[in-house]
Amino acid sequence: MQTQNLGYPRIGSQRQLKKACEQYWAGKIDQMELNQVALKIKEENWQLQLDAGIDIIPCNDFSFYDQVLDMSLLLGAIPKRYAPVLTEVKNNQEIDLYFAMARGYQRDGLDITAMEMTKWLDTNYHYLVPEFTAKQEFKIFSEKVFDEFNVAKKLLGEKAKPVLVGPVSYLLLGKEKEQEQGFDRIDLIKQLVPVYVEIINRLKQQGAKWIQLDEPYLALDLSAKDKEAFEFAYRSIANRTSGVQILVATYFDALLENTQLAVNLPIAALHIDLVRAPEQLEDILSVIPEQIKLSLGIVDGRNVWKNDYEKSVGLINTAVQKLGIDRVIIAPSCSLLHSPIDLDLETAIDPEIKNWMAFAKQKLNEVTQLKQVFEGNDELFQINKATIQSRNTSQKVHKQTVKNRVAAITTADASRKSAFPIRQQLHTNRFKLPSFPTTTIGSFPQTDDIRQLRAQFKKGELTLAEYEAAIEQATIDCIRWQEEIGLDVLVHGEFERNDMVEYFGEQLDGFLFTKNGWVQSYGSRCVKPPVIYGDISRPKDMTVRWSSFAAAQTDKPMKGMLTGPVTILQWSFVRDDQPRETTTNQIAFAIRDEVLALESAGIGIIQIDEAAIREGLPLRKAKHPQYLDWAVKAFRIAASGVQDQTQIHTHMCYSEFNHIIKHIAAMDADVITIETSRSQMELLEAFANFEYPNEIGPGVYDIHSPRVPSKEEMAALLTKAADLLPVGNLWVNPDCGLKTRKWPETKAALINMVAAAKEAREHI
Ligand code: GLN
Ligand code: ZN
Repeated sequence: MQTQNLGYPRIGSQRQLKKACEQYWAGKIDQMELNQVALKIKEENWQLQLDAGIDIIPCNDFSFYDQVLDMSLLLGAIPKRYAPVLTEVKNNQEIDLYFAMARGYQRDGLDITAMEMTKWLDTNYHYLVPEFTAKQEFKIFSEKVFDEFNVAKKLLGEKAKPVLVGPVSYLLLGKEKEQEQGFDRIDLIKQLVPVYVEIINRLKQQGAKWIQLDEPYLALDLSAKDKEAFEFAYRSIANRTSGVQILVATYFDALLENTQLAVNLPIAALHIDLVRAPEQLEDILSVIPEQIKLSLGIVDGRNVWKNDYEKSVGLINTAVQKLGIDRVIIAPSCSLLHSPIDLDLETAIDPEIKNWMAFAKQKLNEVTQLKQVFEGNDELFQINKATIQSRNTSQKVHKQTVKNRVAAITTADASRKSAFPIRQQLHTNRFKLPSFPTTTIGSFPQTDDIRQLRAQFKKGELTLAEYEAAIEQATIDCIRWQEEIGLDVLVHGEFERNDMVEYFGEQLDGFLFTKNGWVQSYGSRCVKPPVIYGDISRPKDMTVRWSSFAAAQTDKPMKGMLTGPVTILQWSFVRDDQPRETTTNQIAFAIRDEVLALESAGIGIIQIDEAAIREGLPLRKAKHPQYLDWAVKAFRIAASGVQDQTQIHTHMCYSEFNHIIKHIAAMDADVITIETSRSQMELLEAFANFEYPNEIGPGVYDIHSPRVPSKEEMAALLTKAADLLPVGNLWVNPDCGLKTRKWPETKAALINMVAAAKEAREHI
């Protein structure tokens, strides 16, 4: 029985790659220095995997920015707009072309936009979306994979396995270029496959024994055409390459109706995710043909918990009984890219809890230990069993009162007292807002001064009193300014918050934070998600202090500002010992209590941000309704404790609601603010067609850029919005929070926004 890994984090345990890339972009180091940092990370990663005893070790899983962008460069799928960069940087500076595609290019009179970025399946990793034209040609452009394999081979010998995104998933991950819609990118498979054949043959000549082709789309909903593309691609590859074993890797969901398709591909091995979908093992075992090996993804690549050896060895046994020991490979469920790197670096985590955890480096050891346990190592088995038991029974995890409360949810818990029209009337009477009321989404610019305050306070250079006095001053200034320009519903500015999830996680029981648990989000950007380890409760008020302080500074309505349960769940590492739904409901009750505390403190308008509801959608459409049901219910639990007079807002940082509008309406927020300015209000149509009944604030300006929109521009958007929705239901606000903006552009844009609202009041 062999062991393998599918991919390892490449940012470096101290985020060396992040730092090196940023220095390179700033012109502080040259390409050679950048390459040296990269080489060191690669060699360390390979050595680590060798030392852990992994038999088949990935290479070309390293990337300076993104592995999908690497593929576009390898395949010569370089959008035309980069042609000037190509001549500018000459051929020996491929890396500058590469970074231009990733980040845009503004130099020497050139101003070329970056490629679009989007989430990698259901992860928080973002890739650069390949752009295809009807006449797309592919040819080998970049030598990176060949060079990297040569280096890997020196250290790893035959264990080195180049990793590529497979041809079908590569096409499906991309998009047709806007002006060129009307052709289907999957039709490009005929042009694409010959280049894959060439790449595979070259790698074979260099000595590769295994090549991993990632085809996550095999675990997604496929059209008939997509399926044909799979058959065509892998048949062509099999016919035109030989002597190298192709491993097709799937992950994040079950193969389901694609099982026959996947197991009948002419390949040497198939990898399946048995963490997300252990139930698929039996089905696959019963149909997998004799010549194919099965790689069991049993160590969770998406979470931070130790593997349960008893469960995993059960799966290994089932597979071995059916296939024999030689046809079984054990592996993490997916690339370890999505795990933090090294638990050993965490010195401050409670040792009892730390003993339940495993990061990427520890997961490699789990893979080899599982093999040893399977072969009869009882000592390792017993140690693991004791660990799993200690987590299952620990008082740190299990709080009966929390469990009881969630188990006793009633429909009344999740419903407002009266229907929306009754509430709306009460709000009109209470707040006396003009038509087209103006507000913002919550945060105001987090300047260096503010960040520094927090850093100094954390280091102990400021006392709590000094820190709070400074934050109070920033809050007061922000409120004065909002009053001055005439905003209707004010916010306190969120100056006391580092991050919209961390701020709450730090105050809730059941969460822990790591020092170094970074995971790549995009390019050089990393996130450090909180870890939810136990039943969640709220020991005391979280936001009342700052919201009440702010409310006391003004006669205008002050919005209380909270993060919603689904968003907190979605941006954390979660427990794997209970359903996500249960954890979300626990958070929902904690937020509900906070909402009630704000209400008692006199805050009449409370916003519960659910930035991540849409990104939590399962990969398979068939699972959407179930997810949306519990996600919406969690929001309703959080929002429904209040009196009818209290106005609940929610905010979502996107605007594509076509498939989920019914569920968004079911959240029954009194006001929803969304993003839509970039689409010129087009995306409001989903709300219009649905006859969305509650109030809505379609963002009138894009806060993702420093550009200041004019009054006329925003007024025109409001006119459009008024054509689509009842005027009495419309609010006026930016697209999202202003945290990442600078003050000058923020002020200019909001002044124009208020002017646009005034114009709308007169003319619409
Ligand atoms: N209230 C948050 C803010 O304004 C919302 C941020 C978000 O939706 N991403 O920063
Ligand atoms: Zn937002």
